[in-house]
Amino acid sequence: MNISYIGLGSNLSGSMSDPQHQLNRAVETIRQHANIHEFKLSSFYSTSPIGPQDQPDYVNAVARLKTTLQPLQLLDYLQEIEDQHQRKRELRWGARTLDLDILTYANFEIVSERLTIPHPRMGERAFVLVPLLELDGHFFSAQGKSAADLLANCADQGIVKL
Ligand code: ATP
Ligand code: CA
Ligand code: CA
Repeated sequence: MNISYIGLGSNLSGSMSDPQHQLNRAVETIRQHANIHEFKLSSFYSTSPIGPQDQPDYVNAVARLKTTLQPLQLLDYLQEIEDQHQRKRELRWGARTLDLDILTYANFEIVSERLTIPHPRMGERAFVLVPLLELDGHFFSAQGKSAADLLANCADQGIVKL
């Protein structure tokens, strides 16, 4: 069984629900998988967008889980859930109904076409680090930096706990 952290985000309403509800539905689906256990979810946070600024604020959260799925199997499952939420892949970092990123998977370091772990930009994103610290106040990056130190160097994203 391996521990993985997942980043969740949404800033668009889908056909059925608003961003917070989308995250709640995605969480329910993730937890249903027979090979995903001990699922823990951070609070939800409202954050300003990165990339294009002409889009709504995001709702972000981080989850911690244990799984026997291999990294690519986990990615397949998360992308399947994004598809169920009518996620469209258009503009880079553009608005989306649902974004599920694998932040870490055990202490694996993978660089491949479909998957890079740890997520290469997690250490510079307050919307990842704040919920991550809520789940594990002693989180250290693969480079040995504490999440708290990384957060101190992040741009202010106007993060508000919901
Ligand atoms: P960012 O990666 O900067 O957060 P994004 O989440 O908007 O940007 P997407 O369009 O959702 O990027 O994903 C593009 C591709 O990134 C996916 O199709 C996936 O194959 C790949 N990818 C690479 N590493 C990861 C990872 N750790 N978690 C999720 N997807 C990843
Ligand atoms: Ca992302
Ligand atoms: Ca993504």
